[in-house]
Amino acid sequence: MKDGSMTPYVDQLVEAFLQERASQAVFEQLFAISSCDPKQISVFVIAFMERISEGSTVLGTAFGLLAMENWDEVIQAAMKHLRSNPAHEGAADAIAYASLQCPDKLSSYVEELFRLQPNENAYYSAWFCRAAHEKDIEQWIHTLHDAEVNDPAFGHSLNALLEARTEPALRAVIERIERLHRDGSQAEAVRYPLDLLLEEAGYRLAEGELEQLHGNMPYHLVFRPEDFTAERPVWFAREQHPTWGLSPATPAADDRNETAMFGGRLAAPCSVCGQPIHRLLTLERIPDGVLIASLSRITLGVCLSCLGWEEGELFCVHDEQGEPYPHPSAAGTEPQEPQFPAEALRDAMIKLVPASGRWQTQDWALSNSRENLNRLGGMPSWIQGADYLHCPHCSEKMAFIAQLDSDLPTSDGEEWMWGSGGIAYMFWCDGCRVSGYRWQCT
Ligand SMILES: [Zn+2]
Ligand SMILES: [Zn+2]
Repeated sequence: MKDGSMTPYVDQLVEAFLQERASQAVFEQLFAISSCDPKQISVFVIAFMERISEGSTVLGTAFGLLAMENWDEVIQAAMKHLRSNPAHEGAADAIAYASLQCPDKLSSYVEELFRLQPNENAYYSAWFCRAAHEKDIEQWIHTLHDAEVNDPAFGHSLNALLEARTEPALRAVIERIERLHRDGSQAEAVRYPLDLLLEEAGYRLAEGELEQLHGNMPYHLVFRPEDFTAERPVWFAREQHPTWGLSPATPAADDRNETAMFGGRLAAPCSVCGQPIHRLLTLERIPDGVLIASLSRITLGVCLSCLGWEEGELFCVHDEQGEPYPHPSAAGTEPQEPQFPAEALRDAMIKLVPASGRWQTQDWALSNSRENLNRLGGMPSWIQGADYLHCPHCSEKMAFIAQLDSDLPTSDGEEWMWGSGGIAYMFWCDGCRVSGYRWQCT
């Protein structure tokens, strides 16, 4: 059979989708094709985009199953659809997923994507700019410099430069926004707060220097299959996604992988309710790339009953051994009875597995509960937009160090949710040895 032609299985799967949409049978068929002949996933994705212009969770799942070497032909097909129909959702989704999983493969389309603006109203509209060449960046710098603030080119080039995240790109943003604050109207200036724009790009300005607010070497926190007890439907099954490292097809994690202690209770009392706080993670060694330099080991812990319910953000001060003690900033005169007393997370030894290039940057919404978003280091997967905490000691913005997703195992056999199913983020101020915690959900 010649490459790219449709097999009967792929044809059947497209037909099944047209009749049943995202049914369990459709997902089962998709996973079966992926495990027998992963190259057919690209044939399916291309056939899907050819016949159906909407997006679908089935298509989103298929993008994660694509063999890396097939992404080029999928991007080519998506570009063809976008040129004739910029509102083609499936093709726009292909660009969004590619901008996370393989931004380099978009680099020769950056100029065209900037013109077409697929995903224009989505928060990830400019993520393809992470693959920008120097000449693209120079062009956007010129555009931003000359454009009036109410010209759409102003917003497009501003977003593009923020997502390109290089020093010249961010310097140009700073120069233009400072000029706007000087010369523009009050209302225009208020619409573009410089520190929030930089924060969204993962940077802060400290005495004129640009400082990154997160590391660039993420690790997945990999649990054992037996750590989870609750059933999940086939389309969320952890075995199906490589970031969980639970699939028998994944080679066993080798000895270079570090471990961390997860779950259980600690001794220190919560400053809000007085009950012992809960352990999130203990790292006996700080892995490379995680922004903790002032300690050689650390325990991250917080009161699960109080975080987000009694107090939006909580902090701990760490001793020289890295043990956490709740910061008194949240303390009232009397201990408060928590509205939702929480069980501890279930004790487990977990592995820290370096996140490969493809899963280096992950997004909460695009992951759609399929991927392992329990991560140490790297870029945070925000749900409500960037929100780095300020250290209660020195008031500086803290660095992001780790995040935990919902559906974590608890000591009573249930699964833990952050609010309605969000993510908890952990931050660190190295100078003050203070950790900070907050969660976001929809
Ligand atoms: Zn508490
Ligand atoms: Zn501080």
